[in-house]
This record gives sequence, C-alpha cells and structure tokens, in this order.
Amino acid sequence: MTFISPNAPTAELQALDSAHHVHPFTHGNELAKKGARVITRAEGSWLTDSEGERILDGMAGLWCVNVGYGRKELAAAAARQMEELPYYNTFFQTTHVPAIQLSARLAELAPGDLNHVFYASSGSEANDTNIRLVRTYWAEKGQPERKVIISRWNAYHGSSVGSASLGGMKGMHGQGGVIPDVHHIDQPHWWAEGGDMSPEEFGLERARQLEAAIEEIGPEKVAAFIAEPIQGAGGVIIPPASYWPEIQRIVDKYGILLIADEVICGFGRTGNWFGSQTMGITPHIMTIAKGLSSGYQPIGGSVLCDEVAEVIASTEFNHGYTYSGHPVACAVALENLRILDEENIVTRVREETGPYLKEKFESLTDHPLVGEAKIAGFMGSIALTPDKAARAPFASEAGTVGYICRERCFANNLVMRHVGDRMIISPPLVLTKAEIDTLIERAWTSLDECHAALKSEGLMVAGQRG
Ligand SMILES: *Cc1c(COP(=O)(O)O)cnc(C)c1O
Repeated sequence: MTFISPNAPTAELQALDSAHHVHPFTHGNELAKKGARVITRAEGSWLTDSEGERILDGMAGLWCVNVGYGRKELAAAAARQMEELPYYNTFFQTTHVPAIQLSARLAELAPGDLNHVFYASSGSEANDTNIRLVRTYWAEKGQPERKVIISRWNAYHGSSVGSASLGGMKGMHGQGGVIPDVHHIDQPHWWAEGGDMSPEEFGLERARQLEAAIEEIGPEKVAAFIAEPIQGAGGVIIPPASYWPEIQRIVDKYGILLIADEVICGFGRTGNWFGSQTMGITPHIMTIAKGLSSGYQPIGGSVLCDEVAEVIASTEFNHGYTYSGHPVACAVALENLRILDEENIVTRVREETGPYLKEKFESLTDHPLVGEAKIAGFMGSIALTPDKAARAPFASEAGTVGYICRERCFANNLVMRHVGDRMIISPPLVLTKAEIDTLIERAWTSLDECHAALKSEGLMVAGQRG
C-alpha cells in the first residue's frame, strides 16, 4: 500500500488528487492542468493551505461554517457521542438521546408551530424528503392529484436528481434530466432582469407569476411552492421588499404548502435564526442543513408545522435514510446551536457586525467595476458591470469576468466566489470587525486588479441586457 504523507509536496498531492479524485461542479481536465489548492488546516475564519498561505474564508466553506473553524467543543461533542453511541438508527420504533434533544431544541428555535423534524444528512436529501412528504400529505388529505411543486429558475435546492429538479439550474437539468410535476417561474432578480421597472413593481410582477402558474396548472393540482428566502447559490439575490408579502398572499389564497429552503439562510446567516423571520413569511416546512452543524457533521432535515406533521403521522411514511438522525451529527448540531446562542452570534450579526459589514460592503459600489452591492446579514453579492448606469452585462460569455475576479481574490488570499459575473460572500458569522476590514481591502485590491486585466484584454465591453 502506498503511504501518502500529509506533508508530501503540494505538486505530489495535486497529481494524486487529479489521478483519483473526481471533484463536484468541476471541469476535471481544466483542474488537472493547474492542480487543486490543498487546504490543510483552519482556525476561526482563516484557512491554511499546503504552501503555508493563510486565506480569509469569505464563504464559510460552502456557506456552512457559521461558528468558524477549530471549535474544540464540537470536536469534543463528537468524540463523546462516538464513545457513548456512535450509531443507531431511528427506524422501527427506536430513538436515541441526541435526536430527542436536537429535535426539542429545533422546535424551540423554529418560528411558530414548526415543531417537528425529519432528519437527513444533507440539504439535497432533505429536499428529496420534501417532495415525497408534500405529495403524501395531499394524498392523505384525499387530494392525490396535488403533485406539482412550483419553484423558480436559478433556485438551488440540491444536487440529487429530485432536489436538482426542484432547483432551477439548467446546466444541472441538462445532465441527467428532471423528475415530472415540477414547474418553474422566474426569479426576482431585479438587477439583471428588472428592465425599466422599479424594484417594487418588478417584485410584484415576479410574485404574481406564482398566481398565474397556479391558475394555468390548475389549483387542484398544485402541492407546494418552494423557495429560498434569499437565493444563495444563484448569486445571493435579495428580492425586492414587495416580493415575499405577495408570495405569502398567493400561497394563503390557494392553500398550497410553502416550503422555505433555509439551508443557507438558517442559523443566523441573515441576522435572525431563520431567513423566514427576516423576510416575514410563514412556511409550513423549512429545509435545514449547512449551518445546523456549522458543517462539522453532515446533517440536514425538514422542519414541519403541526398540521403537516399530524397528517404525515396518520399514515406509515415510507421514507428514511440510514443516517436519518445520526447520533454523532445530532450531538454536534446541538452543541453548535448552544454556541450560536450562548455566544450571541446571531444577535451580533443582526446588531453589530452585520451592520458594520453592510456599510463597508455597500461602499464597494464606489468601485468602477461594481454596479450594485447588496447584503443581508452575512450574505452579500456585487454585480460586476462595464456600465453602471445601464446595468449592462459584459459582452463576453457570462462568468468570464467573474472567473477573472475570483482568480484575483484567490491570489490575494481571499475566498470570494463568483456566480456568473456576480461576486458573492457568505463569511463565518464570527468574522470580527478587523477581519471585515481585511475582507473589504482584499476585495477592493482584487477588483482593481480585475479591472486592469479587463482593460488590457479588451473585455470592458457592454453586452445586451437580458
Ligand atoms: C446547499 C444547498 C442545498 C443542498 O444542500 P447539500 O447539503 O449540499 O445537499 C439545498 N438548498 C440550498 C438553499 C442550498 O444552499
């Protein structure tokens, strides 16, 4: 057996990585040419790579490391639970203490009567659960023809075939297809798609597409509407203020179920425990994952309101995962919730560091490349543009400029992601004011370098607005 030292030279690790490791959302041959960055350690909001570089993680991993890296309490909670009971299932009328404790705690934290949790190991699995769950709910209520789930283009609800079908990523639909009875409406993305409408008019117009879709499909066939309170992977798209109240009105009018996908927005990201609270909506089901354990363990779930849980309890629900309510994952999540609460991390994002980050982040609109900079709590995005007044996209293929900017950030030891030509951040919720300053300084430097590169490559050219 080959022994591979964790201290092997970076090039050797990279060569083995491309020889044997297939990466998610990655063009394998492109990556093989340059080699993946090897992350070896992390502490607080900082990553260290195999070359010893320290990198500020503006994305909290993948939107998940809410309490920051290196929390010994979480490691201890996992070790304790592994020694006590490393695994048992929750099928066949058994349970265990971590699942009981976590469910009771989530029922306390979740708004309204969202009091019941069905566990999964990821957001994708939880949304697959939701598909079966809402259809079972309506079948049990004597309306089995209510199967259609309405979602939005450019939504992200996961990567399994079911959850990706709910999502609105055409590139994913193109590889492997979609399940039937899912319908997509347009997203409330004013900057890119709002034309000459005001944001408020546009928010109403986009929300009313839900009503039009329900009428077109037939209200008796619609089971649910699913949406992220704020779209994350689609580019951190904060809807106009008119959007969610109108969606809520329509959901109430037709009596369909509202699923809030809180996988990113949940657990403090927007300055409240849940994005639904920030947006003032009342979902029947919330999808949770990511920040639930701060990414220290894979865990997700569906949080159900009393009525949905009651209906599901009236039949045998033929669904579950080997790791539903995994004891180690539950124990770590519970400890993570304790840290978020006792260290006032959510409150700090709402009242202190969030407003500070907002002020600094919005000042990026002074940069010549930046058309808008919008942020809610600790999730924000900037639109890169060659012409601010026109809200113009670049003439180059979408993502060309964003990729250049992301590469500049990477070179400046800042993780900021690009979605098309939008740059996004979603840092750990423990980011300090000094670290916020560093983040903004590095972002500004990277934007300058990107701007210079675009000018020298002749890419500062406006295309047609969509
Ligand atoms: C990440 C994400 C998911 C999928 O979660 P996984 O744990 O990657 O399966 C679902 N919904 C939203 C909003 C997400 O951001």
